[in-house]
Parts: sequence; structure tokens; C-alpha cells
Amino acid sequence: MDAAIAAVRCVEDNRDDHGVGTGGIPNVLGQVELDASVMDGRTLAAGAVCAVKGYRHPIEIARKVMESTPHVMLAGAGAELFAEWHGFEPAELLTPEAEAIWRERTLGGAPTGSNLYADSYQMYMAAVRDWVTLLHDRMLGTTNVIVRDQQGDIASAVSTSGWGFKWPGRVGDSPIIGAGNYADNRYGAAACTGRGEMAMRAATAYSIVRSMRDGFGLEDALRRAMLDLQDLVDPFAERVNVMNAVAMDREGNVAAISTAADTAFVFQRLDMDEPEERPRACVPLKQARSQQVS
Ligand code: ASP
Repeated sequence: MDAAIAAVRCVEDNRDDHGVGTGGIPNVLGQVELDASVMDGRTLAAGAVCAVKGYRHPIEIARKVMESTPHVMLAGAGAELFAEWHGFEPAELLTPEAEAIWRERTLGGAPTGSNLYADSYQMYMAAVRDWVTLLHDRMLGTTNVIVRDQQGDIASAVSTSGWGFKWPGRVGDSPIIGAGNYADNRYGAAACTGRGEMAMRAATAYSIVRSMRDGFGLEDALRRAMLDLQDLVDPFAERVNVMNAVAMDREGNVAAISTAADTAFVFQRLDMDEPEERPRACVPLKQARSQQVS
């Protein structure tokens, strides 16, 4: 778990990554809102926070929820109060670059005043009314980390700023155990990125681990989960329809899959000096299904 958290913390601190932590693309109101979760494959203990503002490392808060409360998930203001209570340092997460991207898309790059929310109120309200038109396939991003130690203990950690320009309070799959994150030493672990609503509807991370439990190999388990997504009727599929998953079996073998072609994932074993990039398998979504409802 320490290693999984350490890896996620680096991504949360990377200001150039606009899908996670500091530098994440804000919600439609211009606020960076974070989701994160951890799961311990030894015990199936899990912790998560969602819609949290103002803290650099939601992954650490998620771990604290797991380790020091009888709960699995804390949301919004309650999660922030919990973080404050436990001494997490508040931080500014909106970087000038992310703010400029937000401003450009919501306000058409209107000049800034001292008050982010009030300076272009009319334009801003129009943008909010039509917020769904702001949803954009390049505004996604999440980090998935799955780690296994020499005892065979598996931990998984997921962190994201969610869908850029999302509706305030919109929560994706990343903090939801079973949707975006699942780990069980006995079978393996899986985590997702992409259109979280799809993973939430199909319980994708759990379904991958469940397939391994049912005797399917790692690659087949991933493929079955992507095939499940083909049955989701989705009027928004033309706008955003990418889903990805990474997985590890209980022996530590790794594989990944995507609905998009030519994507990759990264892994490293102790006997390797450098991480290695490997291609993900691809199972595209069926076009016909996405067009069924308009
Ligand atoms: N899965 C994340 C979410 O829906 C976003 C992403 O992975 O790009 O919030």
C-alpha cells in the first residue's frame, strides 16, 4: 500500500497532468474536485473520498478513511472536514494553465477580473446551462496503480480530478469500489480509467476480478469486462466513449485493455531497472449500440 500511494502521490503532484490532483481540469464552476480510492487485497479493506476540494493528496485521505474509520467512503464537505481534522494541509489545486483551459471553454477566454466567478457572470451562467456541450473526450484522465509485493499481497490505488468541466458533485468510478478499483489477493486486482459512468454501470473493476475468481485467465477477464460495456445503451457515447482497464492476477502477471486502439500501460518488476511500456488489447464499443438512443 505504501508503494501504491507513493506512486499515486507523484501523479497527484504533477501539474502538467490535467486529469489528476493539482493541475486537474476543474468542474464547470472552476473548482478542482477530486476522487480517490484504495483497496487492500489482503483484507478487502477499502477507503475512498469523492468530490473533495482543496487537498493535494486525496489518495492519502482515502487511506486514512480505510484505516481509521468504520466507513469506506466520505464525500465533499464531510471528507474535507475529515482531512482537516486529521491535519492534512489545505492547498490550491487550480493551476494557471488549468484555469486558462477552463476559462477558454466556459467563457470563451474572456478577460479575467479579480473574481473568478463574478467577472463574466452572464457568460458563465450560459456556459453552465449548456455544460454538457463542454464535455470533451480529451478532458479525461486518472491514475491507476496496482502493486504486489513478494508475499503476494496486492494493493490498488486510483486518483482523479474526474471529467473536466463536470457538474459540481459529479462523481465517477474512481472512488467507487467495484467500479473503478478492486483488489483481492486470492484472485488479483483491476482498476479503470475513461468514462467512469460506464464502469459504474457495469461494475467493471469487480467484474474483472470476479472473472478471475471464476477461472478465467487475466486477458480473458479483461476482455469479458469490455464486452459487457457493449450492452450499455448510451446516448452520449458519440461524445465520450472510451474505457480502459488495467489488471493483475494473483501471480503478479499484468495486462490492460481499452476500447480505443493503440494505447499502452506501464509496469515494472523488482528485477527491472526501468519501467516497461506494453500495448493494451483493444475491444471497441459497438457503434450500433451507441446510436440506439438519441
Ligand atoms: N474515470 C474517470 C471518471 O470518470 C475519468 C478518467 O479516467 O478519465 O471520473
